[in-house]
Order: sequence, then C-alpha cells, then structure tokens
Amino acid sequence: MSAAASDAHAPARPDSLAWLHTARFFTTAAQLQHLPTHDKPEIAFVGRSNAGKSTCINTLAQQKRLAFASKTPGRTQHINLFAVGRQGETDALLADLPGYGYAAVSREDKLRWQRVMAQYLATRANLRGAVLLVDPRLGLTELDQALLEVLRPRVEDGLNFRLVLTKADKLSRAEGAKALSIARLNAGGGSAQLFSALKKTGVRDLADVLWDWTHADSPETPETIAARGDV
Ligand code: GDP
Repeated sequence: MSAAASDAHAPARPDSLAWLHTARFFTTAAQLQHLPTHDKPEIAFVGRSNAGKSTCINTLAQQKRLAFASKTPGRTQHINLFAVGRQGETDALLADLPGYGYAAVSREDKLRWQRVMAQYLATRANLRGAVLLVDPRLGLTELDQALLEVLRPRVEDGLNFRLVLTKADKLSRAEGAKALSIARLNAGGGSAQLFSALKKTGVRDLADVLWDWTHADSPETPETIAARGDV
C-alpha cells in the first residue's frame, strides 16, 4: 500500500479498475505547445517502442483499442491524452507519450523526440506521476537512462514515479524477481513492479497506484502557494 492510501486527507479509494475503465480519448497533439493545459492531475506513460505501453494502457482501461501503437515509424510522435473519471467528470488525465528507440527512426526524429520528452517532463504543469515501461528482457536501455536523468530533478521535487516491467509472463518466477531487483537498483531505489497484460499480473496494483497519485493531497507548488495568496 502506498503512503497516500493511508493518508487521512485522501478520499477513500474506490475500485481503481472501474475508475480506469472510464478512460476515454481526450485529445492528441503533435507538438507540446499544442497540448491543452488543464487543472487535473496528469500521469505520463513513457517507454521505448514495443515495451508494451499501449497494451498496458488498454489493459488498465479494459478497452481493446484506447491506445494503439502506430506501426509506421515517424507517425508515433504524438502525445495522446485520455480523460478518466466517473459520471462524465474528469478527475485525472493519462498522457501517452511517443515511444522511442525505434531503430528505423532518423537521427532528426530522435533528437526531436528527446527535446519533446525533456520539455514535457521538465515543464508540464499538473504532472503528478510518471510510469516508465520497460521490457525486462532488454532492461533499461540508454534512452531509458537518459529519460530517468530528465525525471530525476522532478522526482526529487515530489513527482511520483513507477518503473513497470512488462510482459512478465515471459519470465519465470525467479527471472521476474531478479529483473525486479536489478530494475530497482538501476532506477535509484524507486518503486517498481512486474506487469503482464496476458496473465493480468500487477494490473490492480498499478491501477491502485494511479488512483492514489491522482487523489492524494496535491503537493505544494509555487503556483498553488501563489493562488492561496500567502506570498
Ligand atoms: P508499445 O509500442 O510500447 O505501445 O507496445 P505494444 O503495447 O504495442 O506491445 C508490443 C508487443 O508486445 C505486442 O506484440 C504486444 O502484443 C506484446 N505485449 C505487450 N504486453 C504483453 C504482455 O503482457 N505479455 C506478452 N506476452 N506480450 C505482450
């Protein structure tokens, strides 16, 4: 259980999977400046192409085609936002960020991706958490490490972070345990878990974490302090 679940100020957690089942497409943007700003907590899903990001989002939402990976390189650079909330209300947004590391992508596309990701992660207002999806058979690649470096200052400032090792059904129990401890080490001791869309491993755990992140009391930011009028 995360700290937020026992936080007296956080609302009681409902069925987190029923909550995520309400996920619906909100908007898409090719460029960061075209992404609308909003006042709801946002959670970013990041990972290299083929890591299982779309499958993870679809499994959490129990929808077959909410997120789909475009198979055409260069057309996967959009940021897609999904709204989540019951009774038509939106209480959180999920951001599906472009997958990276696709071998056929040009150097320019790679550099553009790095700029977009760095900018998004460094500047996105209301970003409450980041989920990094990694195929444990590949481990953390150079681009995953670069992403962790971009995330580090925000995590130090209170951003939630979770490393999700996908396709866990392809590993034996012992391999899974080993992959998890190596991942934790590489992620600087951060929170990590195994996940399998096929066997539904870790699905509810991750759903609970996302609920807790988006419904815990908001951390103070310069904007919230200014809005309160204390400065
Ligand atoms: P993305 O590029 O990160 O969005 O990756 P996808 O979600 O498209 O998944 C890449 C490939 O991995 C697809 O062939 C999926 O069917 C497969 N995959 C994703 N999740 C799992 C899983 O939990 N178990 C297994 N065995 N395969 C998976």
